Amino acid sequence: MCVTTQTITDAYQECQTRLIEAGLLIPSGVNGVYGLSGVFEDVVERFERLVTQRGSHLRAEVMRFPAILNRETYLKTTHIESFPDLMGSVHSFTGNERDHQRLLAQRDAGDDWTRELTPSEVMMTPAACYPLYPTAARTALPSDGRIVDLRSFVFRHEPSVDPARMQIFRQREYVRLGTPEQAQEHQEYWLQLGLEILEEVGLTARKVIANDPFFGRRGKMMAAAQKDQDLKFELVHAVATEERPTAIASSNYHLDYFGNAFEIQTPNGAPAHTACIGFGLERIALALFMKHGFDPDFWPTDVQNALAL
Ligand code: ZN
Repeated sequence: MCVTTQTITDAYQECQTRLIEAGLLIPSGVNGVYGLSGVFEDVVERFERLVTQRGSHLRAEVMRFPAILNRETYLKTTHIESFPDLMGSVHSFTGNERDHQRLLAQRDAGDDWTRELTPSEVMMTPAACYPLYPTAARTALPSDGRIVDLRSFVFRHEPSVDPARMQIFRQREYVRLGTPEQAQEHQEYWLQLGLEILEEVGLTARKVIANDPFFGRRGKMMAAAQKDQDLKFELVHAVATEERPTAIASSNYHLDYFGNAFEIQTPNGAPAHTACIGFGLERIALALFMKHGFDPDFWPTDVQNALAL
């Protein structure tokens, strides 16, 4: 069947409207930025506890970082080359009183007052695992590597009517730092476990090979290379429409990219390889609402039981 872009956009719009009318999403006036109702948040928290329980045997180190990232850390990665259109840079005002008066005058005149701002020392966090790597810098890993459990709000500037494409959302991640074998094993293990966890809550997701949305012409080549090397997989499930399923979890094998950028080494001195699995918590909640209905009290009993944590 041929599905037009307009049909997809209509499906997104309709889904967004229904979720807002049901009170699950609270609109902010900006596409992709919402408040969440208590019912929505409760589903997010319950699903996260299910993930915690299913991953508990790994005894991962738990770390929680905020949604802002050291700018120097950001600049050690190639994010600005690969995803300039998704970044968020935090600016603030550092001028004197005279500068302040000028800023206010510009605002009052409807002019661009943001020229008076200067970049702060932080960027918005683009992925939950970014803040981890500098903390492991210039250290040698134990022989069985490290597994770290992370959760953070992450920012991506991609305003959209697709309710599943939020500009700021939570990723729950498990990251492995170690040898190539350890990183690959982590990816395979978690993709399978991820499918099982999603199945437990009634979401039959599909594992697909994927690529990151690299920017520009060079980006097209990078995306093709990423696909060729089987580095990124997504677990996809319908949210707004069956025609365009949504990635509700994804896993990246970064090879030694972060190991090199942050000088993280295996015991034999080789650059560490890293891989992560990330659950898109808001997207999973959205998939659950679209699949089972807007009132969790009426969800299938086995789904309710799986989430009764
Ligand atoms: Zn990650």
